[in-house]
Amino acid sequence: MIKKQIWRPDTCGCAIEQTFDYSTDPATLVGGEVVERCKEHESDTHEVIMLENQTKNRVLGEILNLHTELQEATEEGGVTFKKGLIPEWSYGKNRELIIKLPAVIADKVDDTQDVLDAKFENVSIE
Ligand SMILES: [Zn+2]
Repeated sequence: MIKKQIWRPDTCGCAIEQTFDYSTDPATLVGGEVVERCKEHESDTHEVIMLENQTKNRVLGEILNLHTELQEATEEGGVTFKKGLIPEWSYGKNRELIIKLPAVIADKVDDTQDVLDAKFENVSIE
């Protein structure tokens, strides 16, 4: 069964109509079309927009794993950010991802930047 759904990333104002094939479990993303464009993505494909969103999520995940003082256990047995300790994120002029660490780990900016530089491009830790 094929189903379409609208996905709005939290990283920009675009809307993407994604097509999923539900004959597999989990469902497979088989297509996407940008149906609303923000001014940052006037000519980008849905893959570019999706990757930007996934990168932000992966970067936040790395920061969570690096710094136990930010962690709180979830009921599912994983970890998540403690309330009030989620790093703030935004994008710079060249669409670089800017992450502002919570004050409790403000002294870990350089260490965090080093770890992320080894895995990602265009990520700036403040
Ligand atoms: Zn966009």
